[in-house]
Amino acid sequence: MNLAEIANVNRLLCTVSGHKYKLVKKITKHLKHYQCSCCGCQVTTNTKGNLVSLTEELKLIHLGIETVIIKRKAKKGDSKKNAVA
Ligand SMILES: [Zn+2]
Repeated sequence: MNLAEIANVNRLLCTVSGHKYKLVKKITKHLKHYQCSCCGCQVTTNTKGNLVSLTEELKLIHLGIETVIIKRKAKKGDSKKNAVA
């Protein structure tokens, strides 16, 4: 059995018994990426809190959100430093 066949079997198992999602990335409190430890498929939470498959488009949008958050945090950090000094 080669790797592609194993992946297909795992996917079939997931279809039958459900995916085993693990948290792989937390962008915000409500925006998270999960990956199935069995078949490796990736999902994310939508605005309603439901799990949807993580498309390349969503990945890009989330990357944008993440960048904004990181920049904001960096700015907050700077202002705190200035306030102390
Ligand atoms: Zn799965």
